[in-house]
Amino acid sequence: MPVPLAPYPAPPTPYTPPANGAQSQLVCSGCRNLLMYPVGATSVCCAVCNAVTAVPPPGTEMAQLVCGGCHTLLMYIRGATNVQCSCCHTVNLALEGILVLMFKELCMHDGENLGDVCVVS
Ligand SMILES: [Zn+2]
Ligand SMILES: [Zn+2]
Repeated sequence: MPVPLAPYPAPPTPYTPPANGAQSQLVCSGCRNLLMYPVGATSVCCAVCNAVTAVPPPGTEMAQLVCGGCHTLLMYIRGATNVQCSCCHTVNLALEGILVLMFKELCMHDGENLGDVCVVS
């Protein structure tokens, strides 16, 4: 197995937050506030209600929609088709894919121009 060359032996660095302060966001599971947390954290304790919210594993693509019932911003894993609001329990349709389908359909109908048909007898 090849050993990568390194100018210095890797120092055992204690965990420090990234210098550039890379942060991500999630919605608190308790009070629905939008929380900021440093990238790399696995769970976030809400400063408002002290609820602990698990951070989705890295690589999970999250999307957002606004609940049709109570207008709370909901986060869901991209690809989901139904998102249930944890506040008012309204089931929202994740419209992302459906909108794309509708757009394609509109394009197909647009420009469809049938001229007069001449019937040769
Ligand atoms: Zn909270
Ligand atoms: Zn809701």
